[in-house]
Amino acid sequence: MIEELTLLKEMQALDTKIIRLKTLVENAPAAISECDRQYKDSQSERQRKNTDLEKALKQKRDYELSAEEKSEKIKKLRSKSADIKTNKEYQLHLKEVEQLEKEVRLIEDDILIVMEQIERLEKTSAEANKQFAKEEAKYQESVAEVKKGHSDGEKELQILLDERAALVKRVPKDAYNKYMHILERKNALAVVAAKDELCQGCYLNMPPQLYAEVLKGQKIHTCPQCGRMLYFEPESP
Ligand SMILES: [Zn+2]
Repeated sequence: MIEELTLLKEMQALDTKIIRLKTLVENAPAAISECDRQYKDSQSERQRKNTDLEKALKQKRDYELSAEEKSEKIKKLRSKSADIKTNKEYQLHLKEVEQLEKEVRLIEDDILIVMEQIERLEKTSAEANKQFAKEEAKYQESVAEVKKGHSDGEKELQILLDERAALVKRVPKDAYNKYMHILERKNALAVVAAKDELCQGCYLNMPPQLYAEVLKGQKIHTCPQCGRMLYFEPESP
């Protein structure tokens, strides 16, 4: 293979790595934002479930307080029953006590309902807290991973860019310009293998004459369909 093509093949391998790394490095802030978003979502989900439980617990306390107050009133009324003079007053007194007792029973029913609710919500809340602990660990891990990938990527990218700068100096200017022209237009892929009689860039079945020329490797040939530069790669066994 002529040196020019060997150098361009090397350049293509470098550029493919550089582009992959650049994308990784550039995408890091967005990847971190996505981690943050997921983390906040699970945080508010947990918050919501815990708030439901807190509300139910408060409701239960309010009911209990109200039942206690009414029971207290009943007690007071009863302690005064000996002072009642007339039958009419006594009937009224009984009615009042009955009404309060009825209210206490209703509140006790409500307390039972809210207790069932609390039992259910305690399970949901415990589950949500457990889930959140997992999510939190996952979040820390993902962010650390993205940050490490970003800083490693930047270092590696600099090494590759230095290598590339050194390589550019060795490639004849015309060949380099042609390479860059194709690279910019053909999806960052300018130099491809001709293998099994196929252009590995567009999978065109190559004309036999061209394939034979590429095999000789005496000059740079391009694919008649995609226009990429071709080098020979031995057929698959
Ligand atoms: Zn092609």
